[in-house]
Amino acid sequence: MRKIFAGKSTNKAFLGMFALMSATSVVLHSCNFKNEVNDTASSQEHPTAETAPKMDNESVDPDKRVIYLTFDDGPNQGTENLLKILDKRNVCATAFLVGRHAYGSTKQKKDFKLLKENPLIELANHSFTHAHNKYSDFYKTADAVVRDFDIAKDSLKLHDKIARTPGRNIWRLNNINVTDIKSSTAAADGLKRAGYKVIGWDLEWRPSHKMTLKGSHEAMLKKVDSIFLNDLEKTSRHLVFLTHDQYLRDTDSINELDLFIEKLQKSNKFVFRKISQYPKINEVLN
Ligand SMILES: [Zn+2]
Repeated sequence: MRKIFAGKSTNKAFLGMFALMSATSVVLHSCNFKNEVNDTASSQEHPTAETAPKMDNESVDPDKRVIYLTFDDGPNQGTENLLKILDKRNVCATAFLVGRHAYGSTKQKKDFKLLKENPLIELANHSFTHAHNKYSDFYKTADAVVRDFDIAKDSLKLHDKIARTPGRNIWRLNNINVTDIKSSTAAADGLKRAGYKVIGWDLEWRPSHKMTLKGSHEAMLKKVDSIFLNDLEKTSRHLVFLTHDQYLRDTDSINELDLFIEKLQKSNKFVFRKISQYPKINEVLN
């Protein structure tokens, strides 16, 4: 197992990244994976004889950090606004869907279709029932939790078994084993045994009491900076960002998320990927 990085990043250059933002007009390709694959394939002497390069840390420019934008609980109020922002910024993201939301109102059905058809979006599993928002009860019965995710997988016709647990920041991904609330451990282990890769998050943009995005994009950019500077991400140089579709109903929140993504792009320090491109554990330093 080759480890790509010799150590956690302590790149001090990141301290000044936001000061440099206004000085650069470079906008990154938003879903760099595809671009990298195409570039590599076209430069090969016998491209047809080669398989596409495996997605791993080797394809990350050492000066760059990878951000996985993830949005939970869709389709929901705010989903359409989210898609407009992602389209405008041409940035990829992952939607952790709630199965029953996809079959709720006519609007939710329509938004589910928009999510499915948008090539910037990857769909992932956030359970069928969302625990009916009664998390402690839900996680008491591991088998029922696995069943709930299986139902969502089937009903949403998801290909991968990438899951995020409702109301819990849980990781079960190769050697990354994190459970924020210990009474959920058996359920989380059950999901892992059932073949699910459970992905939590490194940074959440939380809501205000009005269920809008709390605080400014500048504050969130500082948090991104701080996580990388202090090596708080689960996998070195890879940050999973979370917020929720339903916080994107008002103009201010829409603008703030748009500015957040725009400034990340213009900093020229980050690439964006879908969650299925998150590194495997042999690329993780512990
Ligand atoms: Zn949720």
